[in-house]
Amino acid sequence: MAETKPKPKIQKEAVPIPKQKPEDRRNNFNEVALGYTEKQALAEANRCLQCPKPQCIQGCPVEIEIPAFIKLIREGKFEEAIKKLKDKNSLPAICGRVCPQEEQCQKFCIVGKVGEPVSIGRLERFVADWERAKGVKVSDNSSPKSKKVAIIGAGPAGLTAAADLSKQGHKVVIFEALHLPGGVLVYGIPEFRLPKSIVRAEVDYIEKLGVELKLGYLIGRTHTIPELLKERGFDAVFIGTGAGLPAFMNVPGENLGGIYSANEFLIRVNLMKSYAFPAYDTPIRIGKHVVVIGGGNVAMDSARSALRLGAEQVCIVYRRSREELPARKEEIENAEEEGILCKFLAAPTRFIGDEKGWVKAMECICMELGPPDESGRRRPVPVKGSEFVMDVDTVIVAIGRTPNPIIQSTTEGLAVTKWGTIVTDENGKTSIAGVYAGGDIVTGEATVISAMGAGKKAAKAIHQYLMKT
Ligand code: FAD
Ligand code: SF4
Repeated sequence: MAETKPKPKIQKEAVPIPKQKPEDRRNNFNEVALGYTEKQALAEANRCLQCPKPQCIQGCPVEIEIPAFIKLIREGKFEEAIKKLKDKNSLPAICGRVCPQEEQCQKFCIVGKVGEPVSIGRLERFVADWERAKGVKVSDNSSPKSKKVAIIGAGPAGLTAAADLSKQGHKVVIFEALHLPGGVLVYGIPEFRLPKSIVRAEVDYIEKLGVELKLGYLIGRTHTIPELLKERGFDAVFIGTGAGLPAFMNVPGENLGGIYSANEFLIRVNLMKSYAFPAYDTPIRIGKHVVVIGGGNVAMDSARSALRLGAEQVCIVYRRSREELPARKEEIENAEEEGILCKFLAAPTRFIGDEKGWVKAMECICMELGPPDESGRRRPVPVKGSEFVMDVDTVIVAIGRTPNPIIQSTTEGLAVTKWGTIVTDENGKTSIAGVYAGGDIVTGEATVISAMGAGKKAAKAIHQYLMKT
């Protein structure tokens, strides 16, 4: 009788990641998750079954060879593990912290069928942090450059496209409107989830690959895309300008003082460091009762920032139920542990101001869930006569973001949708020869890794285009 191989014993629980205690972290902006130690990383890596047909890779938009880098961690070969990761992903310390792995690689992990999936993101973060502590190595990339590519926007899409094109041997220049590179990673996601020093370190790596960064360049004003192509010697352009315009609800009283868009609020807190006021001179007004409208990552980040800025009570008001919350699962749990309250199945109908024009109350209406809408989620339907009023001092509106139209309005012949997003084929090619686009400017608000995946695909297509011209 043929001998059957014993089945490997599966360790069902993932190794938990050490975190600051909720009662401590709600009072500071330091990073919440502290990262695995070497021992914890080895124990977690040992949970991976090294599947002959790994399902996890199909869930990764940048196609990281997940079992291979985990095997290298298991063998203690951390330098080789980070090299393997960086073959596909130039921003591993960022992705290890903010990617919604539960919806991507970890969703497909075989171990997840019997227990908790392998913590691929935490392992990614571990090796990226290990490398940063040792000093990042960059292989020589100084071969003569023939073709010149302009990248517009230094968010995850632009940075990824830039890194890949530079590795292919092209001269790459990133034009970024802000005074800092990183896009949402620096102006949106707060320090306690993604320290800015981590973003800086990963951007430094991309600069070391030979990418030139020009900050404070608003394309559409400083130069236009036709100028870059016809007068400034660029052979191709990649647009990765994101979706940075806040959406509003258009309900009465939305212009009252004390009502912020999440964009303005988070830019003040993160980019202009109002949490360190008066050392940084950006004040922010936070009352006792803060309400955040929305249920995505932006709403969670706004609520948790407001709590850290001294609000007594922070409540998220979301028009669907808890099951439909679109934020990362881990961040919902973190927010709840910190004491953020949630009012589900409710939406504002008007804001009520005091005699000085500041918001003092918010009227809401209760919702119930009807049949699914075009997004596949059940549509919230107002319940007649169910209005109620909440006392509020500060309101943060986090209901979505749309593209800034400046590029579209200064680039003749660029096809756009009715939502202002740029039309491309599956490889990021736009309606103009030599012009590619990817990330939130094409899909609308999405995720860091989907923007990176789009940057990667476009870089491949741009390289093929440049090799033919
Ligand atoms: P962006 O990151 O928006 O970068 C675009 C860049 O282009 C910006 O730097 C902008 O200044 C620049 N730019 C714009 N116009 C011009 C111009 N005309 N000229 C020059 N430069 C220009 N996703 C996750 O996966 N996980 C999370 O936890 C998560 N949390 C989030 C929290 C917040 C608060 C927000 C707002 C978003 C979050 N997201 C998260 C979504 C994610 O950050 C975005 O999907 C991603 O950053 C999109 O990348 P991008 O490169 O397309 O655009
Ligand atoms: Fe490891 Fe899970 Fe990928 Fe299998 S599916 S190789 S167990 S991470």
